Amino acid sequence: MSSVRSDMNKEIRLRAAPSPTGKVHIGTVRAYLPNFLLARKSGGKNILRVEDTDSKRNAFGDSQLGVHAMIEAYEAVGIVFDEGPHVGGDYGPYVQSERLDIYKKYADELINNGHAYYCFCSSERLAELRENQKALKQRPMYDRLCRSIKPEEAKKRVASGEAHVIRMKFPTEGETVCHEVLFGEIRVKNQDIDDQVLLKQNGWPTYHLASVVDDHLMRITTVIRGDDWLPSYPKHVKLYEFFGWEIPEFAHLPMILNPDGHKKLSKRYGANSIIAKMREGYLKEGILNYAILCGWAPDAKVAHQDEIYSIDEIIELFDLAHMNKTAARYDQNKFDYINGKHIRRFTPEQFADRVLDWAENIVLKHFKVDVISGLEDWEISLQAEVKKYLPLWKADITKFNKCLALEQERVVKLSELPASLAYFYIDEFNYSDSDWNMKNRSKSELAAALKEVFDRLSVIFEKGSVTHEEWEKVVRGYAEELDWKAGDLFLAVRSAVTGRLQSPPLLESIEIMGWHKARIFIEKAITWLSK
Ligand code: GLU
Repeated sequence: MSSVRSDMNKEIRLRAAPSPTGKVHIGTVRAYLPNFLLARKSGGKNILRVEDTDSKRNAFGDSQLGVHAMIEAYEAVGIVFDEGPHVGGDYGPYVQSERLDIYKKYADELINNGHAYYCFCSSERLAELRENQKALKQRPMYDRLCRSIKPEEAKKRVASGEAHVIRMKFPTEGETVCHEVLFGEIRVKNQDIDDQVLLKQNGWPTYHLASVVDDHLMRITTVIRGDDWLPSYPKHVKLYEFFGWEIPEFAHLPMILNPDGHKKLSKRYGANSIIAKMREGYLKEGILNYAILCGWAPDAKVAHQDEIYSIDEIIELFDLAHMNKTAARYDQNKFDYINGKHIRRFTPEQFADRVLDWAENIVLKHFKVDVISGLEDWEISLQAEVKKYLPLWKADITKFNKCLALEQERVVKLSELPASLAYFYIDEFNYSDSDWNMKNRSKSELAAALKEVFDRLSVIFEKGSVTHEEWEKVVRGYAEELDWKAGDLFLAVRSAVTGRLQSPPLLESIEIMGWHKARIFIEKAITWLSK
């Protein structure tokens, strides 16, 4: 089966069609990423169409804010739209609530061609029908009552103002044959398909009518959407047939599930806003790399063993043919691994630029989604930390680059950096017991050992630059004299100098901060331990 239409001369046009909830998370990034990749790969267009005909799903009823929050978030991760409400295009308007007269026109056309009919059934009757069907263990379906009303009579009732909807008149015999990129040929018995409502009582379209009409008018060549729409696909195929329109290529992709394999991805597992993820310090490279691997892998011949791909490589390699039919599960460890790998791919200079850019343009930036969802406590603390350190980082870029180079090999996400670089920028720690390894040694033993090792280290540091050998000899040598494990003494020095049990290589850290600063830390640590 072909993956993306390759009719020569035809521009490949794909669309994302979200409701304006304002929410963008790893699941929706993954949902709309294929469109972007295939549009870029083919030199086609990636289009944003806002499906706001279901007013319940608008962000706080302000669809403008929801739309712009989404666009801002997609663009922050690098998913750019070539046409849409924010940039216009030849096939607008790109917001469905601004196209109501178009849907009405096409619904009327179906009525006039005998492919649709007016239905006057009350919601009470429909509810009762459903209840009865449920009790009889039948599939809930409209019983086609109003299909038998003569068109002239129905038209009169409509003209007299009687409440009605428009339903599609699905054939009751034969089969509908659908072609799907991932699933191949799908055949359904027409008698099993409901007479779908196309236009609601308030004159607004349902998804079914609006998406078919828009995909046609917007010249969409490949529709990629969630597999939750697969059961409705025959209805859409039939609508194309009713209108006599060419059917675009359709691919229904699975969602990302929670790690336990159940339910749609929830907030607890990474379905929080992608802007929050970026604030946490996931890079757009890491986000796109992880997202695309949820349910897709390139052909084994070209796949990278380490699963790390740049955005350009993903564009080059992506195809629908290698997309899984089953849903991927969210895997935080894999996401972290991928992000860490991308961090390590930068040159030190690039990394420093990215960290500063992250601090200024992600952490401290006010995004539209912040108006919708508000900031979480950790985001507020992170902003405070970044506000404190950013001027210090920028004040001495050479020092910043050196400090950062030590972390580049270890860090998983950028939000670890303010705390992990803190010891280079502050003069005093508020030590707490948890910053020390006190399993084998008491505070007073640690204080005494630090005092002696400090004197010995002073001798070597004060004479100039210190080699690894000298450093090891002093610390290890003294640990032996004490009959301590060397690790216990190294850890004590580490806690004193960095305020933490884990940090980059200690000698390098001391070299960057300078012995004069390290010694102040050690003296203060001895005082703290001796209290
Ligand atoms: N508005 C629909 C949704 O969010 C779009 C589905 C589609 O891509 O056609 O599920």
